Amino acid sequence: MELGATVCLPRSPNCKVCPLKNDCLAFEKGVQTNVPASTKRTPRKRLHHHAVVLTCKGEYAFEQRDETGIWASMWQVPTVESSSRMAAVQVARQLGIHESIELIGSFKHILTHRIVEFQVFACEVERDKRFQWHALDSIDRIPLASAQRKVLDVHCGT
Ligand code: SF4
Repeated sequence: MELGATVCLPRSPNCKVCPLKNDCLAFEKGVQTNVPASTKRTPRKRLHHHAVVLTCKGEYAFEQRDETGIWASMWQVPTVESSSRMAAVQVARQLGIHESIELIGSFKHILTHRIVEFQVFACEVERDKRFQWHALDSIDRIPLASAQRKVLDVHCGT
């Protein structure tokens, strides 16, 4: 008999017919409807990533993420992270970009414990030595964080 599927049901265990009742601590204590305790799922943490697609003569700027945290050591377009949504001018200032950046799209990327809300910006700039520059047909050479394909898709779709 498949006890878990036919007798010891989570919400209504049928202890009267259960062959294990003499050995069952939950039955002995009268708490059979309370175990296992229901586990409440912790709400996913919400993060805001402001991803800025910087282009210069057909090449795209990339930076490497920190060695710890999500997408550790992976590559991404220059990104400002925060706990709330930021305006374009704030994002540009944080990245040290003097040109004005334009919001071109947004999407949510859902991870096991987090929801990352991406705001995607774009701007044509002068080549900046702080970043690595790659043409789109050569980005397979760098390990991109998974959501970065979506960032680039937003840019290519505009
Ligand atoms: S006696 Fe214990 S194992 Fe059997 S149905 Fe009740 S709670 Fe489940």
